[in-house]
Amino acid sequence: MTFEETGLKPEILKAIAEMGFENPTPIQEQTISHLISSTNDLVALAQTGTGKTAAFGLPVINNTSMQIKEVQTLILCPTRELCLQITRDMDKYSKYIPGFKTIPVYGGADITKQIRELRAGGQVVVGTPGRVHDLIRRKMLNISAIRWLILDEADEMLTMGFKEELDAILSTTPKEKQTLLFSATMPTEIASMKSNYLKDAIEISVGKRNAGAENVEHHYYMVQAKDKYETLKRIADNYPDCYAIVFCRTRMETRDVAEQFMADGYNADALHGDLSQAQRDQVMARFRGKQLQMLVATDVAARGLDVTELTHVINYSLPDDHEVYIHRSGRTGRAGKSGISVSIINLKETGRLKQIEKIARKKFERKMVPGGDEICEKQLFHLIDRVQNVEINETQIGKYLPQILEKFEGMSHDDIVKHFVSLEFNQLLDYYKNSRDLNVRAEGPRDSFQRNDRGSDRDRGGDRMSFSKLFINAGKKQNLNASGLIGLINQYSSRRNVEIGKIDIQRKFSFFEVDSNFEKDLVKALNNVVIEGHVINIGKVESTAETQPRERTSFRREGNSGGGGYAGGRREVRREPAFSDRGDRGGDRGDRPRRKRN
Ligand code: AMP
Repeated sequence: MTFEETGLKPEILKAIAEMGFENPTPIQEQTISHLISSTNDLVALAQTGTGKTAAFGLPVINNTSMQIKEVQTLILCPTRELCLQITRDMDKYSKYIPGFKTIPVYGGADITKQIRELRAGGQVVVGTPGRVHDLIRRKMLNISAIRWLILDEADEMLTMGFKEELDAILSTTPKEKQTLLFSATMPTEIASMKSNYLKDAIEISVGKRNAGAENVEHHYYMVQAKDKYETLKRIADNYPDCYAIVFCRTRMETRDVAEQFMADGYNADALHGDLSQAQRDQVMARFRGKQLQMLVATDVAARGLDVTELTHVINYSLPDDHEVYIHRSGRTGRAGKSGISVSIINLKETGRLKQIEKIARKKFERKMVPGGDEICEKQLFHLIDRVQNVEINETQIGKYLPQILEKFEGMSHDDIVKHFVSLEFNQLLDYYKNSRDLNVRAEGPRDSFQRNDRGSDRDRGGDRMSFSKLFINAGKKQNLNASGLIGLINQYSSRRNVEIGKIDIQRKFSFFEVDSNFEKDLVKALNNVVIEGHVINIGKVESTAETQPRERTSFRREGNSGGGGYAGGRREVRREPAFSDRGDRGGDRGDRPRRKRN
């Protein structure tokens, strides 16, 4: 079926053609023909991304009489964002119908302005249940003559506790009207709403969960929990052109990840419930306008944010509810485009991922977290592409060209290219030099996080490995545990896969064994680092027979020329995997090169 065949007015066809709509989505096919030809009520099981706004919006606009002064359609939806989104869409669809007006009314905004708009008149009112109910009670909104009632995201409205308001609003609507109820799920409350308020309702379901699901690939990366943030950065670096929402589980996680991400130079911001409405609006506008490349968000805050061109949805944390994953991933791969839904998981979450796989009816593909070389290559060619495509201001550059060429005299073409590329690239190469392998082997937990199976691996290939015993002045008192210590070692060792032997965590200090080849590097890197106000002191235990912990005396500090005290200046470390399991945000040392804001 084409849009022309649906019987919609030419003015509407012109508007949606301009919006790039070529063919109706499945829900649009069913809803538009139903509304144009039948007066029965309708229950549609459809999620965001299926094209449901146009599914009810287009036929409503089409059937609206421009001669009638009263409000003819009431659309109820759960959030202010969705309310504004629907209004924006309705304005676009009705662009060529002179005098057509959709009025948004929602809580948390000046009611007098909304009353003024209602007085001025409009054919459609879109509102959140609380504000609509309030306006009806104040007799500022009259819905006694509506012809269409749309309940959008009805399940969400119930979840958000709008049942009472909905009942009150619905009881003031006229008997003769057509009701359309859209819901992503069909809980019993929706079923009872259907039997209480809808008559002879026809039920439709769009079959597929969303229009884009077919075009979505599902990838996952398996890493240790403490490496999630580092993995996120690598994914972002590996897809330099990505336009993505990064989903977190809680406001706190959202805020932490976003702050760190921004501090590390990524073009990102946060969207969560702790922001004021004005802040949220501003962030969303910047993301929609593509001034922001990545949005770190909670599911609730991202609701109602409608962007069609997401290349990636990143599940920084898997949602508790598996259906929420389907919702999230359906935000990419829309409107004929392809998309990738990425999950960063740890071994313990494999089972949950399998369950989600079943619900999504798609095979999830394990991807390996890219290493430094791979990322640098990607970034290099991305840079070259940008150089190739950059717009050149001939007049301005031309003015200086003779002088520039004079400066380059004597340099070969290759040398000039090398210099320009290095200028952009050195920092990144430096950053990824000796980067660790973050992947966890699926066969079994790399439990020991590169820790050795005592005995066997030590003799790998006949190359007997020798271990050095080290002391560190942190222990249970500082919440250090074995995995926290391993995280610290991994973070500060200059090479990946440093073998770690026996670990002994005491109250104020700990001992551990480490491949002797890395001993010096590690001592140098960790000594005097300040973590949460605690100055790290680390050194070799001179005798491996040493078993009795002794504070400060039994080790040799690298670079310390003698005497007591702590050698070297303190290095305040900004972002640390703190001790114990709070190592989620451990990153690489040093500042990452700032990303270009294209
Ligand atoms: P919705 O499910 O209403 O949130 O729509 C999802 C996105 O798909 C919106 O950005 C719409 O503008 C877009 N869209 C809706 N219908 C079509 C269509 N027939 N062709 C292309 N894009 C569409």
